[in-house]
Amino acid sequence: MDKSDIVNEDIREISCEIEDISHNLEDKTVLLAGGAGFLGKYMISTFDHLNKNLLKKPCNLIVLDNFITGLRENVPESENITLIKHDISEEFKTDENIDYIIHAASLASPVFYNKFKLETINAGFLGTRNLLELAKVKNLKNFLFFSSSEVYGNPLPEFIPTKEDYFGHVSCNGPRACYDESKRIGETLCVSYGDIHDIPIKIVRPFNIYGPGMRLDDGRVMANFVVAAIEGKKIPLYRRGNQTRTFGYVSDATAGWFKALLSNEKERVFNIGNDDQEIKMKHLAELVLGLVGNKSSAIEYVEDTTSVYRDNVDPDRRCPDLTKSRELLNYKAKTNLVYGVKKFIGWVEEELDNRRKGLEDKT
Ligand code: UDP
Repeated sequence: MDKSDIVNEDIREISCEIEDISHNLEDKTVLLAGGAGFLGKYMISTFDHLNKNLLKKPCNLIVLDNFITGLRENVPESENITLIKHDISEEFKTDENIDYIIHAASLASPVFYNKFKLETINAGFLGTRNLLELAKVKNLKNFLFFSSSEVYGNPLPEFIPTKEDYFGHVSCNGPRACYDESKRIGETLCVSYGDIHDIPIKIVRPFNIYGPGMRLDDGRVMANFVVAAIEGKKIPLYRRGNQTRTFGYVSDATAGWFKALLSNEKERVFNIGNDDQEIKMKHLAELVLGLVGNKSSAIEYVEDTTSVYRDNVDPDRRCPDLTKSRELLNYKAKTNLVYGVKKFIGWVEEELDNRRKGLEDKT
């Protein structure tokens, strides 16, 4: 069980949503690379919950992480979970039978990938290749690669909402290229190994997923806005805030990852996120301010210092077309923006309280 009731409620909901397909995990072994990250945390907690409550025989989990941004506390202790510190840009070998490989090792925050450019490329390129090399010698049911909506770059307006078959409008040498291009080559590796070695491939493209488990210093907009509002600080709004995003709450998205992982569909690529309520960042800032209700906080128009959020770099709009995921995976984006943001605010408040108490205990 997580220390947060908000997380526990989410995990129960995810488990209900995938109850009818979860038996596929019985007595299986899953290798999860990047398990100590934000998305990994929810996946692992779901595996743990399924093991304890639903599966007749538990699913064993081997979790790899190099902890460059992942947090050890995101991986619960359990007899069915083996945590190994490993950087997947180095080869990984194991004698275990592996049924599923999930590659969620990446640095998804623009602030972090800008700081660790080569590590980001290595995770998407070498990491994907190394895991596919391992997949070659195992009899996999599925290889799940976490790609990104960033493979579409800054989509032309006529391609929004964006379908999976859009080629993208992406810079190969701009400030975001280390992330975008490593996800693109990662996908290319997946489909090429899939074709040559007959490895079943699933690729998910997350669209701005947020929720409990994000690092408070993640740097992405939800974490930055909510933490600033609660702490009564200035909410940093870049580019005058006219750029838009859609936001997918992590529990809906996690059910989506499992549905892709356990799918027998021939189709390989799926958008995952929320297609409802595309919102300008200035309106998101107002929404967060209103929901937190801390009078000391206010919006501040600033220029980012990193260049990943400059005009012509930072995508102007982003919204997925989810038709394919809905039809083929039975994916559901159930959580509306206000409800999800409220939950996230509740969790961040809990986290900040826990940290304060932790500090008080030490003094
Ligand atoms: N953003 C902002 N203030 C912040 C962080 C982000 O105004 O403190 C804006 C940023 O310019 C971008 C949007 O919020 O347009 C989403 O940024 P994020 O880093 O969350 O994800 P992205 O979709 O850009 O990868």
